[in-house]
This record gives sequence, C-alpha cells and structure tokens, in this order.
Amino acid sequence: MQRIPALLLLVLVAGGFAAVLLVNSPPITEGQPVIPTQAVPTDDPNAWQNILREGFGANSTALPTIAIPTEQFAPPTLPTRSDSNLVPLSALEAGGENRPTITPFNAAVTPTPPPPTVALVASAPPVTVQVVTRAPNEWNPPPLVPPLSRDPLGRDHYWFQRPVDSNANNAGLFYYPYGSDGPQQESPWRIHHGIDMPNPVGQPVRSAGSGRVIWAAEGLRVTGCAFQSSPSYGNVVLIEHDFGYRSQPLYTLYAHLSAILIQQGSYVQAGDVIGLVGETGQVSGPHVHFEIRLDGCHYGDTYNPVLWMVPYVGHGVIAGRVTDGTGNLANDVDVTIRNWGTGLVHDTTSTYVLLDNELDVNHDPVWGENFVVGDVPVGRYEVIVNINGERASKFVDVLEGTTSFIEIEPERPATPLPVEDDTES
Ligand SMILES: [Zn+2]
Repeated sequence: MQRIPALLLLVLVAGGFAAVLLVNSPPITEGQPVIPTQAVPTDDPNAWQNILREGFGANSTALPTIAIPTEQFAPPTLPTRSDSNLVPLSALEAGGENRPTITPFNAAVTPTPPPPTVALVASAPPVTVQVVTRAPNEWNPPPLVPPLSRDPLGRDHYWFQRPVDSNANNAGLFYYPYGSDGPQQESPWRIHHGIDMPNPVGQPVRSAGSGRVIWAAEGLRVTGCAFQSSPSYGNVVLIEHDFGYRSQPLYTLYAHLSAILIQQGSYVQAGDVIGLVGETGQVSGPHVHFEIRLDGCHYGDTYNPVLWMVPYVGHGVIAGRVTDGTGNLANDVDVTIRNWGTGLVHDTTSTYVLLDNELDVNHDPVWGENFVVGDVPVGRYEVIVNINGERASKFVDVLEGTTSFIEIEPERPATPLPVEDDTES
C-alpha cells in the first residue's frame, strides 16, 4: 500500500523539474539550423575555409599519411646467452681438433680475421684476439643493482657495474679469463690481469663505479701507479673509487680505448661514459680490457673482476679452488661447468697460472679461489676438472646474485706440468 504514494511523489517531482527546464530554455526559432553544416563562403584567401579547400596552400606541408598494419604484431625472439652457449659435453671432452669451433663475430665491422697463431717471446706484450662466442646486441637480462652482497656472511662484494651496456658483449672472453695464459694451443700468452670484452669500435665504455679519474691518456706510467708494459695498454682510463674495501682503496682500469671522453682529475658517477671501445695498444681486435685493483694501483694489485661486477637477474657466480692432490693449488687446469639438468656444458675456464712472484694475479681476499665463472643461470651444476688424467668433480647450486664456492681435489696426486715464465720484468 505504500508503493502508490511513493510513485505519485516521483511523478510530481519529475513533472516539476521538466516545467523548470522548459521555462529556462532559450526560445527555438523555426527554420534556423542549430548546428552549422556548411562553411560560410568568403573572399578572404586566408580564411580557414579557403585554406582547407586548397590543401593548406602551395607552400604548406602535406598531411602525413600513416600506414595502419594489417598483420598482428609478433615480437622478435632472441636466444638468451645461456641457451646459445650450450655445447654438448662430448664435443668438449673430445678435445683437440674436435673441439667446437668459435665463430668470429661482426665480420662486416672487423673484416680482419683473428690471428691464427702468435709467436711469443719472453718479452712479448699481451696479445688478445677479437673472437667472441656470441653476436653483439644479443638480449641480456638486466643487471642486479650494485653494491650487492646477499651472502648472509657478507662475503660477496659485487660493488661495480659492468663497464659496457648490458646488451653489449660484457662477459669476459672465456678462453682468456683472469689469471690465464691463453688457449692451450697458443699458450703461453702473458698471464691475464683483467678480462676482455670484445665489442665493435665505438661501443661506449662506462665507469663501473663512482670516483676520481686519476689517469686518462695513453698508457704511460702514473706516479704511484704502473701498468705492465705500459704502451701495450693503449689509451687507458684509471679510476680511484670513492669507496674502498676493508679500508683499502679500489681502482678500475679500462684499456685499448679508441677515444677518451673524460679528463684526468674529473669525478665520474657509475655508468658515466668515459670512453669508447677501441684497439689501441697491443691488440689484434677491438675490445675493452677491464681490471680491478685493490690496495694499490700497480700491475701486481689486480683481482678477478668477475667477483666484483654485479651479476644479472637470475644469475650467479661459481668460484672455486682446485688443488692437485697434495694440497697445492693446481695451475692452468681446465674447468668445465656442466648443467646438471640438461647434461650440457654451460661454460669452461681454467685455473690461475701462478709464478710465485710479485706480478702474480691475486686470490680474492674472501674466497682464495683459483678459478671463477660468471653469468651462470641459477640451477645445479657439476664442476669437472681433469688434472693430468685425474678427473674430479663436484656439484654446486648456483643462487641469484651470490657466489657459490667449491673446493676440488683429485683423490690421487697428479704430476704437475711445468709452467713457463713469460712475464716481463
Ligand atoms: Zn686483456
């Protein structure tokens, strides 16, 4: 019974509102169009009607036409580095000439083929080659954010960015890692005190961290600092960072640059462009040679950069110590990283070549390692070494943004191979 008065009230209110609208609306004159549908003709040549009709006039730019795609957009698919790097273990274990061949990259940019062999004498400067295992501008995940130390014991010190962009080639050349004397077939090269990132000439080189530029010129000697075989470094930038490690100063070095884009004495932030990739100095192809120096800026103060550069999202680092069965570090032993899930080889490296002199490469102050492999996707891996016929391996789990450390020693002592001394005085 209550619905009828409510309905009546509603009708009354609506009717009253309509009456108010009718009274307040303007009068409509019969015959006059409310909305104009035609331009009023005019003789003025600059009137908008005439301009529109004449297509914006003789001197005006025609309207752009945009092609609307008729096919659905499909994003390009690119292989990730970890996929393209996989090599069957059998291919590597075959050794010798059956080892997988390495395809030179970017032949159009650098038509010079890589040098086949380089005869080295005791005083030879460092020689590096321009071959890389993957094409530039391949897709890479973003790097984690430095400074990074996820290890609960605080052992990691990923305090630096990489010196080139993520999608440039910023992994160290695998057959000339830190502490190595080059590929077995061509060794011994000079023991490597940094890592090489082959890239086309002109690729921007960036500061790995904030600090003061203390050298930005051809590789001569700096007061208090020294490069080994100075001219071989070509154009060099050396940065003393505004942070240290365990109250010791930290330095990064960038060599073989085609151009230096900052001045000595200037202050740089991490990521600032400091120069361009080049091939100045003793090289056989364009790359940036990158070093970390700690507690001194001399040639004998270098450490493995892979333990200082922040890993990519979803990637970690394997570091280890290979001994020869008598407790001594095993020099120049091939190390193979095999994916436990797929059975495929992910990467290879070799242990440091140590000569027991003041120019040796150094073990990380935390890890005491003699090999490091970076850019390892998270997962389980078997690390395999072969010391003069004695095979030993261990499993290791790689976690994102951390270092996984292992010690490997064969059960029986192996006969150590003699190591040639090829460093300069
Ligand atoms: Zn190098």
